[in-house]
Parts: sequence; C-alpha cells; structure tokens
Amino acid sequence: MIGMSWEGPVVWWNPVEGFRHAFTPERRPRPDQRREALCGLWVTLIEPDEVDWLLPTCEVCMSEAVARGRDRERRREEVGRQLRERFGPEVGG
Ligand SMILES: [Zn+2]
Repeated sequence: MIGMSWEGPVVWWNPVEGFRHAFTPERRPRPDQRREALCGLWVTLIEPDEVDWLLPTCEVCMSEAVARGRDRERRREEVGRQLRERFGPEVGG
C-alpha cells in the first residue's frame, strides 16, 4: 500500500487590510511578512486576533483557493489511476 503523505494546506489565510486573504502554501504567514495575496494585493501580515478572523473573505482569493484545491484533488486522482493501471486495483487507493 502506498500512503499519500500530508501535503500541507492548499493555501494559508490571513486577515489583513479589511479582508481575509489567501497566500501560497510554501511559507506559513508570520506577522510583519511582506506577502502577495493570491488576488495580487501586496500586504504586510499582522498577528490576527479573534475579531480579525470575522472580516469578510476576499472573493478573488477564495475562488483561487477553491481552484487550487480542485487541482490538487485531480492530481491525486490521476496518481491513483496510474498506480492502479500499473500495479492492479490493490494499489493506490
Ligand atoms: Zn485577496
């Protein structure tokens, strides 16, 4: 059985400048980081408190995050399909 390792989050979210924006998953957001949100906005990240998380979600970031989640799901299915073709239905989940 070939296990699928945890790939980490599709995106990170951070509430900054009035909206919750999404950021690429390579680096976890830290306060005072200068980052480009998925919608193209450059922001300096903050240390969010509970109230900040109530901000509305940036719609561009949300649709981008959803698209990235779907891409990953498709890639995972494709890998599973190739494994089954190569090794039979017992492999690849
Ligand atoms: Zn955004």
